[in-house]
Parts: sequence; C-alpha cells; structure tokens
Amino acid sequence: MSTAISTSLRTLFPILIFICLGWTDSRLSATQADLPEDHQRGLAQITEGRVKGTVAFLASDELAGRGTPSREFNIAAAFVAARFQGAGLKGGGKDGSFYQETMMREVQTPASGVVYQTTAGIDLPHFGLLAATDAFDYSGPTTLVDPEQDLSQLKLDGVATVLWKSEAKGNRAISQVARLANSLKAAGAKALVLYTAEESELVQLGIAARERSRIESPRSQISLPVLLGKGDPAAGEVRLTVPGLIVTELPMRNVIGVLEGSDPQLKQEAILFTAHLDHLGARPGTGEDSIYNGADDDASGCTAVLTLADAFAAMPTRPKRSVIFMTFWGEEQGLLGSRQFAAEPTWPLEKITANVNIEMIGRPEAGANEKIWMTGWQASDLGGLMNVESAKIGVEIFEHPRFSAMLYRASDNWSLVEKGVIAHSFSAGSLHADYHQPDDEWERLNIPHMTRVIQGLFIGSQGICNGLVTPKAAK
Ligand SMILES: [Zn+2]
Repeated sequence: MSTAISTSLRTLFPILIFICLGWTDSRLSATQADLPEDHQRGLAQITEGRVKGTVAFLASDELAGRGTPSREFNIAAAFVAARFQGAGLKGGGKDGSFYQETMMREVQTPASGVVYQTTAGIDLPHFGLLAATDAFDYSGPTTLVDPEQDLSQLKLDGVATVLWKSEAKGNRAISQVARLANSLKAAGAKALVLYTAEESELVQLGIAARERSRIESPRSQISLPVLLGKGDPAAGEVRLTVPGLIVTELPMRNVIGVLEGSDPQLKQEAILFTAHLDHLGARPGTGEDSIYNGADDDASGCTAVLTLADAFAAMPTRPKRSVIFMTFWGEEQGLLGSRQFAAEPTWPLEKITANVNIEMIGRPEAGANEKIWMTGWQASDLGGLMNVESAKIGVEIFEHPRFSAMLYRASDNWSLVEKGVIAHSFSAGSLHADYHQPDDEWERLNIPHMTRVIQGLFIGSQGICNGLVTPKAAK
C-alpha cells in the first residue's frame, strides 16, 4: 500500500507541478482578462517580436548611430513617420505633415587662411583655429588676460591672449572655452588666442573642428574667433586674419503623429509620448567598431513610442484625450529637438496634460526587472497616478533613490518642464558600461523586460488618457 502510494505520488508529482504552473498562468491571464476589452486589444499589439523587430532596425549598423545630422538619421525619421502613418495617426506638424522641420547650421572651421604675425611680418607659431565666427582682420596690440581674474570688470579692445591650463576634456573643454570667449567678448575683445601645449585636448578638438563639420548647438557656440597659439604668448603688436566659418544649412526633423481623442471637449488636451531618435553617429577611425548604435539610448525609447502608437491606435474606442507620439532630433547635442518643439509648439503647451518621455528602457538594473523609474518624482504626482494602473499588470513605477533626482534635467522632458508642462523621463535601465559606447547594441537588450515596460506604460497611462485622472504639479 505505502509503495503503491509513493509510486502514484511520484507519477503524480510532475502533473501536480504542471497543474500549479498552469493555474498560476491562467491566474495571470485572468488579471489581463479583467482589463477592459480596449486595453486588451492594445496590449496584444505590444509583443516581444514587434519590440525586437523595431529596435533591431533602429539600432542596426545600417543606420550608423543616427547622428545629428546624417542621412541615416533622416532614414530613421522617415521610418518613424511611415509607422505613424501606418498606425492611422494624423501628422502633427504644419499642414498635416508628420515632420516638424527646422534649418540648423552645420559649421566647420576653415583649414587654411589664418595669418598670425607680428606687425613687422614675422610669423607667430600656432596650431590653427579652434573656432571662428565671421571673417576677421586685425592689426594692433594684444592683451594678456588671466582667466582667473574678475572678467566682468575688464575693458578690452582687439585680441585677448590667454595661457590655457585647464585639463578638461571633450565637451567640458569646449564649454569652458565658450564661457571664456563670451566673457572676453562682453569685455570688448574681438578674437582670442589660447596658448596651449601640443598634447592639449584643445589641439585635438581644433583638428576635429576643421576635419568634420558639426551642428552648432547653444552649448558649443563659441562667440569669438579662437586661435591656438604655440610656445610663449606673443606680446606687443600683432596682425591676425581669420577666415569665416564654413556654414551649411540643413533641415532637421522632429516626427509627430496624433491620435485624436474621442471626447469632443477632452480631445483638446493631450498626453505626449516622446523619445529621442538621434544618437552619437559613427566616428570612423576610433576603433574596430566605430558605430555608436545607441540601442538602449534611445532606440529603446523610440521603440516604445512606436509600439505605444500601435497599441493606442488598435483600441476599438479611442481614448478621450488626444495622444501625441513624437521623436526628437539632436538630444545628444543639447536637447535641440525638444527645445525647438517647446519654442514653436505644434500643440498648445498649456493643453499638454503630461509628457511621458521614454529614455533607456532596455537594460534593467539588478533586481529591477519589469520596473520603471520616473525622473523628477517629487515635481508632480504623475508617477504615483501611473503606478496605480500599471500595477494591475504587475509593472511597478517608482522613485529611484539616485537617478530620479539626478537625471530630471538630463533629457528632453526638461525642455517642456521649463515651459511649465508636467514632463518626466521614464527609464527602466541602468547607467551600464556600454552607455555612449559602440557596444550599446540591440543584442544586449533584455527584450522581455522592455516589452513588459512598454505594456506597463500603456496600461499606466489609461486613466490620464481617458480623463479619469489629471496629474498635478507639486506646489
Ligand atoms: Zn538618451
């Protein structure tokens, strides 16, 4: 008897496990089955296959890191517009276009044409230009300036000369030069000669500035011609001739699709889902892999925007409020696309109920699978409101102890916050070692996690989209 029991238990055991698992499974789908039909139809659009298919294309080597500006960025923008159109959205730009375009200046410093001499005609050694604005020609005295002194009291005329000692790298070095140039310009200087060592970062940046054109962003705008001097600062009378910048005007585009709300009143108001389409592009000669794919940053966010557009558009009853889907250009150069939208909004900003900006959702921190953190948690009640709903499908939206405060100003939501809109970034990731590196590849993304996060954002925003709740800014 006992043998018979244990045998039958042994036989039954796998079946029992199967039943338990099956029971758990059916309970999970029972939770989804409790959701309204509209929500279920939307959720059915957000599958791992679709998520992977979209992000693998956006982060492919063929799109060359979607640099600003580049032909590949424009291809990515055309893809987003086509997907919006395919989902049945209306163009949210001027005259029903899916694009909001602006002309950007792409600038390059000229490789030759600089004259730097004593007035007696003796050439002074230099590494060339770091930056130039307009063509400039000057003969007269130079003034040696100590950058540590109070520059606001300074009165200058002609060329300022500075011994450059900073060890800042890359963008930080450029910002420091830009700040110094601005102060010297305000003091009356017409050009700046920075004396530096050959191994200085500025010399590398000077070479890059004449080899490659770049988008002029407010952060990198240097308001004076800057020449890099060699050796000891020249004193006395000099002659300086600098050619003007080589300028190309290029169109850049935000892509905007609108799903009009179904309520005659509430449709005036909109919830805005955004992500930045650009990344760092390709940097040939930097190593074996020179393409910065930006799979997590921020092809993952754009994939969320596209998949959410499909999900909302698939609901048999459209949400009461309008839902706008948008991708930005130029985030990596200083939030340029979102600043453009904030300056020339195609939807009245006071009628934007909330901006859900999606950034880096593909690589969760340890222990934070299927969880989303919102930046600027304390600035409004948006995160709490969305969490109540996303919890229905088991996705948590929370305040990250470090990143929520630290990164509130670090992405495109900030351009809208500055205009008084409730705008936050939603992230479900980590600052991993591949951040802003060529290894930010789609193969390293956690697709099941990403898919659940997008589902969480979809369910999490239903109350707001349907006018049941309205987020409020903190007092
Ligand atoms: Zn980003």
